[in-house]
Amino acid sequence: PFDVLIVGGGPAGAAAAIYAARKGIRTGVAAERFGGQVLDTMGIENFVSVQETEGPKLVRQLEEHVKQYDVDIMSLQRASALIPAEEAGGLHEIRLDNGATLRSKTIILSTGARWRELNVPGETEYRNKGVAYCPHCDGPLYKGKRVAVVGGGNSGIEAAIDLAGIVKHVTVIEFADSLKADDVLQRKLHSLPNVDVITSAQTTQVVGDKQKVTGIEYKDRNSDELHTVELEGIFVQIGLLPNSEWVKGTVTTSKYGEIEIDAKGQTNIPGVFAAGDVTNVPYKQIIIAMGEGSRSSLSAFDYLIRH
Ligand code: FAD
Repeated sequence: PFDVLIVGGGPAGAAAAIYAARKGIRTGVAAERFGGQVLDTMGIENFVSVQETEGPKLVRQLEEHVKQYDVDIMSLQRASALIPAEEAGGLHEIRLDNGATLRSKTIILSTGARWRELNVPGETEYRNKGVAYCPHCDGPLYKGKRVAVVGGGNSGIEAAIDLAGIVKHVTVIEFADSLKADDVLQRKLHSLPNVDVITSAQTTQVVGDKQKVTGIEYKDRNSDELHTVELEGIFVQIGLLPNSEWVKGTVTTSKYGEIEIDAKGQTNIPGVFAAGDVTNVPYKQIIIAMGEGSRSSLSAFDYLIRH
């Protein structure tokens, strides 16, 4: 059995693996896809102390760093269930899709999250070519340009307010007949000169010239008419889905499905910790996920020396 078993190999899991292995304890990482969301990222300009890098390059460096230590990396392994230890200090079990079971005194859940997609023509084709999901990451790339934010909930309106300070013009596109964001955000949004809001609008297509995005097409849900807004960027803000379905009912999750943790990164189950985008810690970023992953391993070590 392991002392620390990390489920998920994104930045949170990689940082957790390095911190655990450096304590000289038996460390394993089971991950469906080592690197996680970072593999899907092109330019990264906010990984502090590295001015500019690319996702696949950062993943290679993460893997090399983890491999400096005695860590059992189990790739292409999808976890399907967590069976908690019967008493504190006992062994927790992780069931894998392939039928195998892994046992460990402590577990770190770092299975990340995925952006909910529009599922319209052009979205996949123009991802990273005008279709973006993270305003903190990609906002500055659209300085002086026109963008849309799809989604009028809190994250969409926060994104629109943030982007309005950087870009030339923001069009907010909301499916329902009104915005869902908090009033204070809506008031702030309406005070900005370079923002338009379109409600009852169903996004139907990402329009492009084969190289990059040139517009967004939507259907007016009242008249069924199609309209196209010319622009250079589309930020999709219709939800971030935590990869926590497989622990639901065992580990406490928020109404958004995020695993709830305390200040040390521990879940409701003693010896089971969580880190990164799968948790209820706000702001989903690489550097934050790494910090959380590191903390969860230090907490797991602290747990181990007491049990
Ligand atoms: P993830 O990176 O999501 O990793 C999750 C890991 O868990 C993966 O290894 C996955 O395969 C695995 N996994 C999931 N379910 C299971 C399961 N059941 N069993 C086993 N393994 C499982 N952040 C920035 O700071 N800067 C940026 O510029 C930036 N740009 C981004 C661009 C894009 C397109 C996207 C999608 C995200 C971007 N982010 C950026 C956000 C950043 O990638 C995430 O915050 C970060 O990767 C979260 O790390 P994580 O380790 O928590 O989860």
